[in-house]
Amino acid sequence: MKNGFNGILPGQVEIENLNSLSIIHYPFSITYLTMKFIDLSHTISSELPVFPGDLPVKLKRDKEISKDGYTNFRLCTEMHVGTHVDGPMHLTSDVRYISDIDLERFSGEGVIFDVRGIEKIALTHIVPDKIRQNQIVIFYSGFDKKFGEEDYYHNYPVLEEGLINFLVEQKIKMIGIDWFSPDKEPYPMHSILLKHDILILENLKNLEQLINKDFEIFAFPLKIKADSSIVRAVAGINK
Ligand SMILES: [Zn+2]
Repeated sequence: MKNGFNGILPGQVEIENLNSLSIIHYPFSITYLTMKFIDLSHTISSELPVFPGDLPVKLKRDKEISKDGYTNFRLCTEMHVGTHVDGPMHLTSDVRYISDIDLERFSGEGVIFDVRGIEKIALTHIVPDKIRQNQIVIFYSGFDKKFGEEDYYHNYPVLEEGLINFLVEQKIKMIGIDWFSPDKEPYPMHSILLKHDILILENLKNLEQLINKDFEIFAFPLKIKADSSIVRAVAGINK
């Protein structure tokens, strides 16, 4: 050991085995050995609130252990309910299903901005220097507390075009929001993001737990031939 350096760099873990010292390289500063998961997802049930006019979720126990010898459930749902990821096919002419999208796009280093109380979120409301290529940029509005209320689908904040264009230039992977859409009808910001292969993670919750933390996001879709998918979104933070 020279000058206090033991040969292990941040993002590396030393594993001692019988005869030698091995070093495993991890791409991030948070490793699976030190990671704790925070659930960012709404629970899927027949009571899950849906966008006004959309079909309700039907989740039904259709086999009973006492009667049928096993339990099974049947789910009938649209993809844009609860916590879900919008794929390119949703609002562009892209023909790729969500199952065709590279898995790398659904996880990565996250960065969060506290935008509570701001109706039109612009570049001036964030710290542009914090954003780097391939990050997942999360906007925390606290709006998840209104999930299921009338207000949730009408008086939600929007992301302004200057901010969206900046995120496109930075080549981020995905944005995540704790409300239901980054824009209003006819959803021009959706189109810009999806045309540039930036996915949109919607209806997140519990984002307050990520403030001032280093974290990674994992939000994998079902392997499904659909435009978009319901997801179990989680953040990994240091224990
Ligand atoms: Zn959606």
